[in-house]
Amino acid sequence: MASDKNPGRTPLFRLITIASAGMGSFILGLWGLKIGIGGELAELPLNTLVSIVAGLCALAAACAAMSFFAGVDESSDYVFSETNFDKLTGTLVKHAMVGKVAEAASSTLETGEPVYLLDIDINRFSHINDAIGYTQVDDLVRLFAQRLKGLLPREAAVGRVGPGEFAVLYPDKKLTGSMETLIEKLIDDLVAPYQLKTHLQSISLSVGVVAMPKDGIDPVLVLRRANLALQNARATNAAGAWSVFQPEMGKVADHRQWVESELHAAFERGDFDLHYQPQLDLAAGKVVGYEALIRWNHPQRGTIPPMEFIPLAEETGMIGPIGEWVLRKACMDARHLPEDCFVAVNISPVQFMTKDFLAMVRNTIASTGIKPSRLELEVTETAMMQDKARAADILKELSDMGISVAVDDFGTGYSNLSYLIDFSFHKLKIDRSFVSRIDTDSGSGAVVSTIVGLSRALGVSTIAEGVETESQATMLKAAGCEVVQGYLFGKPAPLRVIGGQAQSVERIVQNQRGAANLH
Ligand code: C2E
Ligand code: CA
Ligand code: CA
Repeated sequence: MASDKNPGRTPLFRLITIASAGMGSFILGLWGLKIGIGGELAELPLNTLVSIVAGLCALAAACAAMSFFAGVDESSDYVFSETNFDKLTGTLVKHAMVGKVAEAASSTLETGEPVYLLDIDINRFSHINDAIGYTQVDDLVRLFAQRLKGLLPREAAVGRVGPGEFAVLYPDKKLTGSMETLIEKLIDDLVAPYQLKTHLQSISLSVGVVAMPKDGIDPVLVLRRANLALQNARATNAAGAWSVFQPEMGKVADHRQWVESELHAAFERGDFDLHYQPQLDLAAGKVVGYEALIRWNHPQRGTIPPMEFIPLAEETGMIGPIGEWVLRKACMDARHLPEDCFVAVNISPVQFMTKDFLAMVRNTIASTGIKPSRLELEVTETAMMQDKARAADILKELSDMGISVAVDDFGTGYSNLSYLIDFSFHKLKIDRSFVSRIDTDSGSGAVVSTIVGLSRALGVSTIAEGVETESQATMLKAAGCEVVQGYLFGKPAPLRVIGGQAQSVERIVQNQRGAANLH
C-alpha cells in the first residue's frame, strides 16, 4: 500500500498542506492576473474582477477538497494497516484477530458450520531469541509466517498473537480430510528447518485446537481455551505435539500456575533431591554408571514428578539454578559411588544452549574435583538441533574436556540422522518407547537393531532405558545393546551414605545377579 510509505501523513497534516496550497494558488492567481493584464487590472469592471478571483478560489478549493479526501482515504488505509497488521509478518495483530474470531463466532451461529481456532506456538521461543539474536529471530518469524500462510486456504485468517505464536481461524468447509490430518501435515511442514543467514534453524511446535461453537463463542474465552490446549500439548514435551481443548484443562492450567509460582521458593527451601538409577553393562554383568534424576518433595503436596515442573522451570528460567544445582550435587555424590562408575546428569535443552553452560560445567568440575571421565551428560536430540553449528562446538569442547555425552531419548525427535556425523558424542540412549514394545511389536525391534547398527557405524555405544521385563532385556542383548537401565535392574533411589559408603549400591549389586542370569 502506497500510504505505508507516508507514515507522517495524518489527516491534520493533509489539511494544513491543502489549506496552504489553496492560499498559495489564490495568491499566484492574483499575481498572474496582475502580470497578464498589468495596469489594466484596475480598469476592469469590478464584477469581472470579482468573478475571476472567485473562479480561482473555487478552483483552488475544489482541488484542495479532492486532495483532502484522497488524503483522508489514504491515511485511513494507512492507519488501518498500521493498527491491524503485524509489520514483520503481514498477519493480523492480536486485537484484529480477536475481531476475526468474533466475526467467525457470529457466522458459525448463523450457519451452523463449525470454525476451528488453532493456536500455534514455537517452543522455547525466548531461548531461541537469546541464542541467535533479534535480527535472525525476526527472519525466522517472517519465514515461519510465510510458510504458514502458504499452507492455508485463502479463507483462513492468520494472526500473530505472541512473539512466536500464531492463531489461525480455519473454516470447517475448507477441510478436505480430517482435522487431525490437517494439523499433522501443518506441523510436519512447519518444523522443517529454516534457512537463516548463518545457519539452518530447527524449531519445535505446540498446537492447541478449539472448535466453535462447540467450545464457546466468546472470542477471548475461545482464544484462552486454544491456549490451554496448547499448554497441554506442550506439557507432553514432544517436538510437535497438539491437543484439542477439553474442559478439565482449566484445572491443569491452575496447577501449572501454582507450580510456576512455587518453584523459586522450593529451590530456596531446598525441596529438591536427587535419586540415582543404575546402568548395567550386560556383558560384564556389573553396574557402570548411575543416572541422577531430580525429585521435588513439596512440604505440603508431596512428590511432584519432574515432567510436571522441568518444562515450567525451562519456561521461567529457573532451570538455570536448578540445573546447576543438579550438576554440582551429582558431581559431589559421585564420591560415594564406586570409583569405576560414572554419574549421568540430564541437561535441559535450555541449559545446554545458554552462553555460560560450558563455563558452568568447567567450574563445577574444578570445584567438586570430579574426574571428567566420571561425568556423563545426557543431552536430547532437540537440544542439539536448535542451532547445530553451536551445538557441535559445545559437544566438541565437552569431549575435549574428557566428558562423555549420551544422546538421550534417541529416536523420538528427528528422522534426519545426518546431523550425527558432525557431533562429538559417545552414546546413543534408546528411548523407553521402543524398549517397552520391543517384545510385542516388530517395528520397535527393527528400530532398536537399526540404532545399534548405526551406533557401531559411528563408533559409539548404546544404552537402552526403561527395561522392565526379562524378555525385553534378552531381546536387547540379542540386538547387540551393551548397557541397560530400567526397573528390572533397579528403580531410581536416594543415595543413603553411611560411613562414606552409598547404601543403595548394595541393593543394586543384588540386582546384578538377575542381570548376570541373562547370559
Ligand atoms: P529421562 O531422562 O528419559 O529419564 C528416564 C525416566 O524414566 C525417569 O523418569 C525414570 O524414573 C523413568 N524410568 C526409569 N526406568 C524405568 C522403567 O523401567 N520403566 C518406566 N516406566 N520408567 C522408568 P523421571 O525420573 O520421572 O524423569 C522424567 C524426565 O524428567 C527424565 O526423562 C528427564 O527428561 C527429566 N529429568 C529428570 N531429572 C532431571 C534433571 O535433573 N534435569 C533435567 N533437565 N531433566 C530431568
Ligand atoms: Ca535421561
Ligand atoms: Ca526417555
